Amino acid sequence: MPEENKVIPVARVLMDDREVEAARRPILSGWVTQGPEVAAFEKEFAGYVGAPCACAVSNCTTALHLALVGVGVKPGDEVITVSHSFVATANSVRYCGAVPVFVDIAPGTFNINPALIEKAVTDRTRAILCVHQMGMPCDLKAILDIARRHSLKVIEDAACAIGSEILWDGEWEKIGRPRGDVACFSFHPRKVITTGDGGMITACDPGLDRKFRLLRQHGMSVPDRRRHESKEVIFESYEILGYNYRMTDIQAAVGREQLKRLPEIIKSRRYLADRYVKLLSDVAEIGLPVQPEQARSNWQSVCVRLPAGCRQRHVMQAMLDKGISTRRGVMCAHSEPAYAQGQWSHSERSIPAGGLAESEYAQAHSMILPLYPQMTEGEQDAVIAGLKNAIGA
Ligand SMILES: *Cc1c(COP(=O)(O)O)cnc(C)c1O
Repeated sequence: MPEENKVIPVARVLMDDREVEAARRPILSGWVTQGPEVAAFEKEFAGYVGAPCACAVSNCTTALHLALVGVGVKPGDEVITVSHSFVATANSVRYCGAVPVFVDIAPGTFNINPALIEKAVTDRTRAILCVHQMGMPCDLKAILDIARRHSLKVIEDAACAIGSEILWDGEWEKIGRPRGDVACFSFHPRKVITTGDGGMITACDPGLDRKFRLLRQHGMSVPDRRRHESKEVIFESYEILGYNYRMTDIQAAVGREQLKRLPEIIKSRRYLADRYVKLLSDVAEIGLPVQPEQARSNWQSVCVRLPAGCRQRHVMQAMLDKGISTRRGVMCAHSEPAYAQGQWSHSERSIPAGGLAESEYAQAHSMILPLYPQMTEGEQDAVIAGLKNAIGA
């Protein structure tokens, strides 16, 4: 059991003086927003995931918004996605005036069930917004097949999937190359590396990347850094309706340091996730996370299914009473007041009763266990003992 008053958190950032030192650079340089540190972070990030282009933005929610605008999603269009995700996934579709069309998940991976996608396609469908939920790669091959058949764009919500891998033509490759048109990443503290807040958009098409760069800075024709460095007076123009979705150089400097730690962070997360699975495999009633053969998760979260008779809130409270913090499984956007019928959907696209049964069941009957790279085996043993105790195993 943990020491008295010491709570095992569900997550913990890994930062120290290295990040402090990195943040000093832009602070003392006099250039603090979207400048040389952002450019360097983009280059290093692109190199890490193997993407031709990477564009840094303020967070993954704005990344998703720009991705959808960039591929041409317009008011009234439909975008096929999951309800079973952080609410930002579906919200980003609504920011475009488009309609998120929710498809149910496959229970084992918590990811979109590709077998259900084609039935959801209509004349108005413009894109598929798939999620690599909790770092587990979704079935991109199957999704891309469907997208090609129907000329749909594919955006990967890779908020949690930095460093996750898929097997592609016999080779392991990182999520974010991307295999769809665009992939979007998050640097929120709850993800695998953090810049406080922050996001990254990767793409293969340089034209699309140029569009993201315009959109993130008010549609401005000349970035301020170019004006700043120019010996001649330059007047900028505003080419398209843009936004202020910039990342600061302070965030980017921290991100560059976090990126250096990433291999070590993922190694540790994989070790601990494997250990959870091994040590919980004798508890027959617990549903353990499923990793398909063509996927390697970064284990942003380890989510387990509770035994059928267990009340989620009771199990979580019993563990919290023992100093172990957990979270319920991934939410369902369609169950939230912000998604009450009529506000957002084409009426004929309303969700049929039971249409998202697996999503709803996963939300109500699963639980995220503590996991962070600094976690000791002793802490993990305490979590496992606390969980077994709480479910009466
Ligand atoms: C965290 C998360 C987001 C939003 O990321 P932010 O950087 O916080 O905006 C989007 N989608 C998924 C699946 C997430 O987990």
